Amino acid sequence: MQPEINVVIPLYNESKVFEQLINRLLGISKLTDQSIEFILIDDGSKDDTAAKIAQICLTNKQFKGVILSRNFGHQLAVSAGLSVVTASKAVMVIDGDLQDPPELVVPLSTKLAEGFDVVYAIRKKRKENIFKKTAYYFFYRILNSISYLPLPLDSGDFCIMSRRVVDILNKMPEESRYIRGMRTWVGFKQTGFEYDRAERAAGDPKYNLKMLITLAYNGIFNFSEYPIKFVTKLGLIGTLSAFIYLTYVIVQKFTSNLVPTGFTALLFCVILFGSLTLLSIGIIGEYIVRIFFQVKQRPNFIIDKIISTNE
Ligand code: UDP
Ligand code: MG
Repeated sequence: MQPEINVVIPLYNESKVFEQLINRLLGISKLTDQSIEFILIDDGSKDDTAAKIAQICLTNKQFKGVILSRNFGHQLAVSAGLSVVTASKAVMVIDGDLQDPPELVVPLSTKLAEGFDVVYAIRKKRKENIFKKTAYYFFYRILNSISYLPLPLDSGDFCIMSRRVVDILNKMPEESRYIRGMRTWVGFKQTGFEYDRAERAAGDPKYNLKMLITLAYNGIFNFSEYPIKFVTKLGLIGTLSAFIYLTYVIVQKFTSNLVPTGFTALLFCVILFGSLTLLSIGIIGEYIVRIFFQVKQRPNFIIDKIISTNE
């Protein structure tokens, strides 16, 4: 049976929160008469998450399991989930740790029905440590100011989308996926919906600092050409300053007979311009590495099996 709504939930080592998650998901059916199918993606978990997914999907036809061949990371796990949706109306994406309340499917789908194609959730409050909060705050604002798209502030992947938006996302072959940005790129009518982001219900965060930095890099280098323009500006400013300094030195040479000094300044300049060169190569490299991976044309993820009893 074709569901009206699919809810896509990526899971990586979420055994501890699994039962709570399933209970909350089962509770949703009582809140709405729309038919919902939950898509649970196992992103190469090392614990028994995959086994738990298989068990629920074989006994309850409201659940579909997607087992990936290894850990591909959150963004690709969500992409894998989106690739198997069958919903007639809408698709919601949430985290598996219950930080995004699944019950919001009701207000979000109501809002979507008002004529929107995307309703993205905006985090009004975050119950996370101060470092993470500050980093997120500045990241979204900096990215928004340098991006060629007006990317919404404080909104992650938690959203509900019309089926046609998901079909377009599935057709986008990008290798380094920053889904919240790709979603904005699609266009149509989009709006935000404020909510309080809860604490993780159980288990530890699966995103470590390195993964967060990779995600931030994907946001910046896939949705902004500013860094590369910045390098050009830096080069221009450097050249201009060098000529001004040259003029100053020449004038000084003819007007006074000072002995050359300034070894420290010289050393500083060598180090500064050496580092700036390296930084510039690094920035250019970020774009090149994206081209490198994209031209390989590898599939973005590999599905090992799909488990479902829903005909
Ligand atoms: N996740 C995933 N693959 C990964 C890392 C995380 O599918 O490699 C899932 C994880 O199970 C959770 C969601 O992505 O459902 C968000 O992860 P997490 O809660 O660790 O991120 P945070 O909320 O700390 O940003
Ligand atoms: Mg979380």
